[in-house]
Amino acid sequence: MLAEPLAQIPESEVRPDTLLRVNNLRTCFRQDGKTVTAVDGVSFDVRKGETLAIVGESGSGKSVTAMSILRLIPSPPGEITDGEILFDGRDVLAMNDEEIRQLRGGDIAMIFQEPMTSMNPVLTVGRQLSEPMVTHGKGDRKSLKARCVELLRQVRIPDPESRLQAYPHQLSGGMRQRVMIAMGLACDPRLIIADEPTTALDVTVQAQILELLKDLTRRNNASMILITHDLGVVARYAERINVMYAGRVVEQGTAREIFKSPRHPYTLGLMASIPRLDQPKGGRLIPITGQPPDLANLPKGCPFHPRCPYAKDQCRQDRPPLTQVSGDHWKACWVDVTEVQPHV
Ligand code: ADP
Ligand code: MG
Repeated sequence: MLAEPLAQIPESEVRPDTLLRVNNLRTCFRQDGKTVTAVDGVSFDVRKGETLAIVGESGSGKSVTAMSILRLIPSPPGEITDGEILFDGRDVLAMNDEEIRQLRGGDIAMIFQEPMTSMNPVLTVGRQLSEPMVTHGKGDRKSLKARCVELLRQVRIPDPESRLQAYPHQLSGGMRQRVMIAMGLACDPRLIIADEPTTALDVTVQAQILELLKDLTRRNNASMILITHDLGVVARYAERINVMYAGRVVEQGTAREIFKSPRHPYTLGLMASIPRLDQPKGGRLIPITGQPPDLANLPKGCPFHPRCPYAKDQCRQDRPPLTQVSGDHWKACWVDVTEVQPHV
């Protein structure tokens, strides 16, 4: 493998309101004698009270990034091979088992895509809801009943007292996801990682859940990492965006800036799949064609070049580093999309 320079955030640029810093994270999986680099030199910050969206097609390394932060990567076959994760200045990769247990479900809550698989089918809602609080020493099951009711009320579940007795299968998908969010909130997390929290739900319920999450983070001044393949969701709920492709961040910046002036052809492609959007300057929108990359067999140069309507010779030769467009807007692309028309 070529040793290439990776974007690292200089120590001098740590802002005082940084809650989470991920620096040059690399997570690999070994399979059949091959190594797949699922997350390849990813760096970003999450500030206090803000929502960062991680966007990209399936297989781009979004979930592996999230699971790395909580050290939930199954090993083997996976391993974090490089980088640094700092939560409120504490080195997550150096934490012992007890510290990491306190972090999970304590300071950081994770909400997954499919609530049915992350809930225990044989335990009542009340029991599951009180579990994280018991684990984190917030009281015993009996004294926690009022708190459980309050949590269900917060996530706007009607008739919370009687819902405590319900089993997961007695609830709708939307209600189960609300219970999952309530479980996540139980220990007053400072960071919520929501990994495609609404993908399995219908559109109306999706919007309700996202509104709820946004409202709860605002009220508690918590931060959120919102993982989604839907850039449309991002526009409404995130302050900043990481666009990922083949395990790397290919564009990074404020949501406002990226929607106004997207600079990576992949981002343009993702935007083209949103129904309503202002056209960026300098070109029409072309949806992404072709297959997502095979991580075990990435092409030379920019991993996106085989699907890129703007690709030029340099893109087939050299991997573009993450470079500054302006302020905190960054892109990994050799082409200036504001100047060129697609080569199609
Ligand atoms: P997504 O962006 O859809 O969340 P993931 O982060 O889940 O993508 O996965 C990125 C890539 O990492 C996958 O395409 C796969 O190659 C690899 N990967 C993830 N989990 C595992 C695993 N448990 N074992 C082997 N490879 C994995
Ligand atoms: Mg995923």
